[in-house]
Amino acid sequence: MSLSQLARSICESPTLKLNETAALLRDKGEPVIHLGGGEPKSKAPIDAIVSCSSLLQTGDVKYTPADGILSLKKAIIRYTEEHYDRLVAPENVIASSGAKQSIMVLLHAILDPKEEVVFPAPYWVSYPEMIKIAGGVPIPVTARDGGFEPTVEEMAEAVGPYTKAVILNSPNNPSGVVYSDEFVAGVVELCEKRNLYLIMDDTYNRLIFDGRTPTNCYHFTQVHNLDLSKLVVVNCVSKMYAMTGFRIGWAIGGKEIVRAMTNIQSQETSGPATPSQWAAVGALNGVQSSIESLRLTLENNRNVMMTRLGAFDGVKVVKPGGTFYCFPDFSAYEKDSQKLSRLLLDKVRVVTVPGREFGMEGHLRISFCGTLKEITEGIDRIKWALDPGAPNELYLGGRRLVRDWR
Ligand code: PMP
Repeated sequence: MSLSQLARSICESPTLKLNETAALLRDKGEPVIHLGGGEPKSKAPIDAIVSCSSLLQTGDVKYTPADGILSLKKAIIRYTEEHYDRLVAPENVIASSGAKQSIMVLLHAILDPKEEVVFPAPYWVSYPEMIKIAGGVPIPVTARDGGFEPTVEEMAEAVGPYTKAVILNSPNNPSGVVYSDEFVAGVVELCEKRNLYLIMDDTYNRLIFDGRTPTNCYHFTQVHNLDLSKLVVVNCVSKMYAMTGFRIGWAIGGKEIVRAMTNIQSQETSGPATPSQWAAVGALNGVQSSIESLRLTLENNRNVMMTRLGAFDGVKVVKPGGTFYCFPDFSAYEKDSQKLSRLLLDKVRVVTVPGREFGMEGHLRISFCGTLKEITEGIDRIKWALDPGAPNELYLGGRRLVRDWR
């Protein structure tokens, strides 16, 4: 079979692949605990369901404008005013099939072949592949101090003559770190000085803990006219409203860039699915309490996860300030994160994601979006598998396991 160079260079999404593996094992009756997941357990808000089903009941489900229906744009404009203190016009908004598509059409709209996109490591697994699909070159920046937030100087060192854009994702998938205001301000300034696009991936913007307020990148910009600005903010209903399957995200940017993104989207997929757009209208305009209750649940889960991981002698973990992921360093047990993740799946049926996929070897991404039982039992199983001091036996779904690998 002859496949394009591009197809041969793009890897499958490892996180989606792990979902499949976990589902297959579960179907076989295996007692799998999925700590690799990237979606909240809660249901979509009732206002989303009502709004979506009202449309479905009419049976009149048709194409929409490529950049989304006006009702959704209005809901996004209201959201942006409330949470970012920015009044934007409908022409500054594009709704897409998930934040992923917003970022993808944006990359297609700005990158010429071989232009570079700079982003901190650890990073969301999809950035390097998406940048490559758009013909660009991914340039991850790893903090020299080994932490999860590089300095602005380290970001600036990675910027060269071919750099076209920077991506920041805070709170961050996979580390859960909320970047400091100083860092975000410094990167906004860097991009404005060097005339670069800055893509703020705010997918987890409001899922933050410990009384912090969400970061608003517009506070740091010197370019107040959005149409002259190269700052593009991406959001979605996927995580905050627990609506991953609806596939609705959006971007806010200057009119020219939004028009270019809309042209590309119109040729690629047309507008996002109409029932999903109405579901997002319901979620954004409806009662907002589900976000706070999800946030509180996640904060509690995070605390339980930290206590559990604290019981591991060799594991180093940074307390996540947001999201539903943490990114502990397991290198004291095993430096090869793919090997370690495989061992945990094979031996104790716990799904984790290898840190290598996120640009940091020796770490595992562990999610705390599941139930408390999954978190505690999952970490206990990992501890049993790795800790030489643990008893030699473990009962897994009625099966007696004997540790014969350490
Ligand atoms: N950005 C980040 C950082 C993410 O973690 C995800 C989803 N895992 C996305 C974007 C994509 O979101 P969506 O499901 O809305 O496409």
